[in-house]
Amino acid sequence: MKMQTLFDLSGKTAIVTGCNTGLGQGMAVALADAGADIVGVNRSDASATRAGVEATGRRYVDVAADLASTRDIPGIVAAALAAFGRIDILVNNAGIIRRADALDFTESDWDDVVNVNLRTAFFLAQAVARQFVAQGGGGKIVNIASMLSFQGGIRVPSYTASKSGVLGLTRLLACEWAKRGINVNAIAPGYMETSNTVALRADANRNRAILERIPADRWGTPADLAGAVVFLASAASDYVHGHTLAVDGGWLAR
Ligand code: NAD
Repeated sequence: MKMQTLFDLSGKTAIVTGCNTGLGQGMAVALADAGADIVGVNRSDASATRAGVEATGRRYVDVAADLASTRDIPGIVAAALAAFGRIDILVNNAGIIRRADALDFTESDWDDVVNVNLRTAFFLAQAVARQFVAQGGGGKIVNIASMLSFQGGIRVPSYTASKSGVLGLTRLLACEWAKRGINVNAIAPGYMETSNTVALRADANRNRAILERIPADRWGTPADLAGAVVFLASAASDYVHGHTLAVDGGWLAR
């Protein structure tokens, strides 16, 4: 296969959750730039993402959904099939974080985070994989992990638990589905400039401590995930299963 063809997503349909902003928006536009039509799953207006996708010449369909529960999953799959007739790629990106000392952490801050980041991500992967099996020909699932899939962190117990769970679940799903031609992998972004990290960047001490530890000497941006997500969504990664790829400016190498 020609090198360009290996990374070509022309004719593919990608579902990207939580893509109205931040890393999801960057990945949706990157997948479109590689040729995929995009089904965005959002709870708020995604017109900037639509504009970014359409500027590449690809089509964008938005599905309104609240991923705090699994209720909307059948509608997401149905909407993708109604728009494009098939699903080839799922990027499980939607996620939230809550910060409080473990001694004070509430049950709602536990449940809210684990429900979006882990529970719904699993059941959406299950629903999409069932469609991959029904269609034949396999598919690609890319979960979004974190540095806290590898490290403990502080003041984010439900986030660390959920993202460590995402890493393990990525491996389990890869083990079960690799023989069906379904690749399940994850991207672990480092410290990235999005609304998820506003509080960290606003705290001068934490900001300095984090920056001093990043070998690349800068926070990451949504565009930094473009190459990794296209790789894991394309034929270039057909023999890559169950891997969590850090895109972290060297953070984990320290
Ligand atoms: P963000 O807050 O900008 O984006 C999160 C997205 O998830 C938004 O589109 C939001 O609407 C969506 N979302 C959250 N809850 C939802 C719900 N109930 N229903 C539907 N959509 C929902 O943050 P981001 O940094 O772009 O985060 C994207 C992913 O990357 C998350 O999984 C996050 O944990 C992960 N991540 C971020 C960083 C970072 O440094 N920013 C690092 C590692 C991992």
